[in-house]
Amino acid sequence: MAIALLSLAVIIKILTDEKDLSDSEERMLTMYNPKSLKAEEFINHEEVLDTLAFAKKNKDNTRLIDTILEKAKLGKGLTHREASVLLACDIPEKIEEMYSLAEQIKKDLYGNRIVLFAPLYLSNYCVNGCVYCPYHQKNKHISRKKLTQEDIVREVTALQDMGHKRLAIEAGEDPVNNPIEYILESIKTIYSIKHKNGAIRRVNVNIAATSVENYRKLKEAEIGTYILFQETYHKESYERLHPTGPKHDYAYHTEAMDRAMEGGIDDVGLGVLFGLELYPYEFAALLMHAEHLEAVYGVGPHTISVPRIKGADDIDPDAFDNGISDEIFAKICALIRISVPYTGMIISTRESQSVRERVLHLGVSQVSGGSRTSVGGYYSPEQEDDKSEQFDVSDTRTLDEVVKWLIEKGYIPSFCTACYREGRTGDRFMSLCKSGQIQNCCHPNALMTLKEYLEDYASPETKEIGSVLIDKEITKVPNEKVKKIAMQNLIDISNGKRDFRF
Ligand code: SF4
Ligand code: SF4
Repeated sequence: MAIALLSLAVIIKILTDEKDLSDSEERMLTMYNPKSLKAEEFINHEEVLDTLAFAKKNKDNTRLIDTILEKAKLGKGLTHREASVLLACDIPEKIEEMYSLAEQIKKDLYGNRIVLFAPLYLSNYCVNGCVYCPYHQKNKHISRKKLTQEDIVREVTALQDMGHKRLAIEAGEDPVNNPIEYILESIKTIYSIKHKNGAIRRVNVNIAATSVENYRKLKEAEIGTYILFQETYHKESYERLHPTGPKHDYAYHTEAMDRAMEGGIDDVGLGVLFGLELYPYEFAALLMHAEHLEAVYGVGPHTISVPRIKGADDIDPDAFDNGISDEIFAKICALIRISVPYTGMIISTRESQSVRERVLHLGVSQVSGGSRTSVGGYYSPEQEDDKSEQFDVSDTRTLDEVVKWLIEKGYIPSFCTACYREGRTGDRFMSLCKSGQIQNCCHPNALMTLKEYLEDYASPETKEIGSVLIDKEITKVPNEKVKKIAMQNLIDISNGKRDFRF
């Protein structure tokens, strides 16, 4: 079939000679190919549409749905077509099965630890015109700010004093104000700050799509994960929603992870902004992107983020008519967990406490806490009033409140950053995940980093319930040797030592 279509495309090309091809003719030239390095081939529009048609046709096909659920129980993931059938299915008892399965996979692979992080906004200067973001170039209501290195010291000190060890830095795209040299210098500054017992041990980076050379520089700067949200995979919508600036180039943006891999960054984080396009399209395409990375590099995405569009200065979320309900959002989270079991899932403070609580059960493994989404918001929280947040925060609790809440819900809040520091990235990390061995690291690391938090930053109530949790959880470490070392490390942490890891 593919050969027949290709031949047809070639014939059209010959017949039309010098003339431009029409849209439909052009489309025939692009085939779905997960191994291709071209955006329009690995996120092939026709393949997404076929997938959605297949899902719609089979949404009540209980035999097929049961077969897919059986496959999912093996914990090896699902294809975008299989997962899309489950997403389309609205049979209540089958949806319940999906939720229980997601919860089980989450427990089996991640245990009860939840990793905590905070975003750090470096600069809101941006030359792009993204219509859903208040930092778009034409917005004149907000004050433009960029942290100096001295500002970064103040911000990071404030973050360390909260207890954070893992940051995700964010900056708009602006080659004059935020060149790569500024980002690299900022990363160096962040890693260099040691205040009391504080340290930022992992800096993840969320900056605009860039060149292989710049990705290589980020790798050399020892970043953790490179995160880039696709926003929407639908090319036409993408171009409409990004009318101006370098981000308008769909292919350059969509192929960014390939350049990051080429530059040596093997932990990459995907995400779409739910609400911009129809969610079944985004869901299928997001999984196709994960399949592409796996097919070409042998390693899928390290994380997937699931932001939903939110209000902000100059942005009315109701202006976007593809918003999704909490119910659909929960279903998407559960199906991502089932489809890509080894990929961490991140949820930010865009979501309320209750929504976050629900999706923690269904597969989310990382949450932000105590976040400020404006430039300079940690050192000077009053800046939240100057309308410079990138989005309205729904969960406004402090980090200590989030930690206490997680403990009360039976989770282990973890400040672990061990993997990339131990060289466990890319396929090395994935193979440990797939063999289940990573649990021998995650669980004791969670307990040891929580212990550090309790000693250095927690309120008395959090310290009390956290200590009880550690005493209970340490007995569950299955490997006797690891348990013994971890117990000794916990004692050493009480005596002032820091930074143990497996
Ligand atoms: S989403 Fe990013 S690139 Fe777009 S306007 Fe906002 S900061 Fe700039
Ligand atoms: S051991 Fe690795 S995978 Fe586990 S929590 Fe720590 S950094 Fe994450």
